[in-house]
Amino acid sequence: MDARAKIRHGQMVSVMLRSAKPRFVRHNTPCLFCINPIPANTWAHYWCGYGSRVLVDHPKRGGYFHKSCLKKIMKTPVLFECFVLNGQLSPEMLEDEIRRTVTVDSLLAEWEMVEHPSGCLVIVGRRGGKRFSGKNECRPRKKVGGVNRTIASLVYQLGGGEREPDQVIRHTCDVSTCVEFDHLIAGTRSDNVREGFTRGRHDKRYRGLTPCQKVKQTLSDRLERMNRYGDPEWFEEWDEEIDEWRD
Ligand SMILES: [Zn+2]
Ligand SMILES: [Zn+2]
Repeated sequence: MDARAKIRHGQMVSVMLRSAKPRFVRHNTPCLFCINPIPANTWAHYWCGYGSRVLVDHPKRGGYFHKSCLKKIMKTPVLFECFVLNGQLSPEMLEDEIRRTVTVDSLLAEWEMVEHPSGCLVIVGRRGGKRFSGKNECRPRKKVGGVNRTIASLVYQLGGGEREPDQVIRHTCDVSTCVEFDHLIAGTRSDNVREGFTRGRHDKRYRGLTPCQKVKQTLSDRLERMNRYGDPEWFEEWDEEIDEWRD
């Protein structure tokens, strides 16, 4: 092994050590490596699958190893690489890491926020830093456990929101910088795309706008609905009505 491969192998071994913990086996369980059964009521190593997938959101391949089998794998880089491909956290470990290192208060303390009259709690930039503008992404994020997460999804998770592993956090208000817990729901990416069409996000008044300009336009639309109908939420006839008024 050359020096770089050695370092990489060392890193991956530490990934494995952090994620393979001794656990008492109650039922006969096949070993992930040798496939022979691990007898009931003995100790084995349970590996949560850390490092077995490239995409952190995907379920990991976990299971039990004989203690001796785990030792064998650790010593043999070729065997080892059948199991550990990268140093990314498993979804369970990421969740633990988030709960261990972040609270809603500490998270939001990093950002400048404005309470919009339409009910949104809008992040306008980093506290003491520049405001979102121009071609910025307008989707505030934080890196936790080496993974970039949107602030909205962290608020949702820390606030106790339920979410399936393959789901994303979406905004019922369509404002990407909003972190009001009540405006956040879990859903699939295709829900998001479909809603983009059914909720008027591709209407002509949004066309050609940067993400930050879209946020501004959406907030001003919410305010207008609030003033006209007493309710900021999008509804179907609104898109036609607003075009009539503004023409
Ligand atoms: Zn084994
Ligand atoms: Zn909102």
